[in-house]
Amino acid sequence: MSTFALRTDSVDATRSLGEALAGVVRGGDLLVLAGDLGAGKTALTQGLGRGLGVEDAITSPTFTLAHQHQGRLRLHHLDVYRFEASAEILDVGLFELLDDADAVTVIEWGDAIMSALPADLLEVRLELGDGDDDREISVRLVGDGWSARRRALGEAVAPWVRQGSDGC
Ligand code: ADP
Ligand code: MG
Repeated sequence: MSTFALRTDSVDATRSLGEALAGVVRGGDLLVLAGDLGAGKTALTQGLGRGLGVEDAITSPTFTLAHQHQGRLRLHHLDVYRFEASAEILDVGLFELLDDADAVTVIEWGDAIMSALPADLLEVRLELGDGDDDREISVRLVGDGWSARRRALGEAVAPWVRQGSDGC
């Protein structure tokens, strides 16, 4: 298992982390964002979108389930918080979205549907830290596709590695 333990101290820092991840992602990638309401999942996605060159505003798709943005790659942004049954996963066309080789798919609360997701994914878990604006963030590489990019990912997230952690 490979996990990077990170910390940010502002919403802008979390956006910058998302922007840094844009330098590592490729078409067909899946990012699962976990963590409580207000932890910063949407903020991280905003930064990722900025890094991908998305120009329109990225907002939470809580009620619309899925948003699509165009940048260097397409960005499919889902929030499955309100999903009640696997039927909704089909309704939103999740598997078609995941098959889009020119897109990165981000699923907020995706850990809730992990068993339905492909074997290769990046799981980013955000948790509240000590101060109001502190967030403890773990980035876990799941599957061979991501393991092969461990070094590149480590370089991208290096500015936010938590002191006292060896990074993995
Ligand atoms: P989620 O999508 O996880 O519900 P949001 O990104 O919508 O969370 O909201 C995060 C909230 O927390 C925003 O109001 C943001 O300004 C605030 N915030 C404060 N510090 C941070 C931080 N370090 N990272 C991300 N958000 C932060
Ligand atoms: Mg959100």
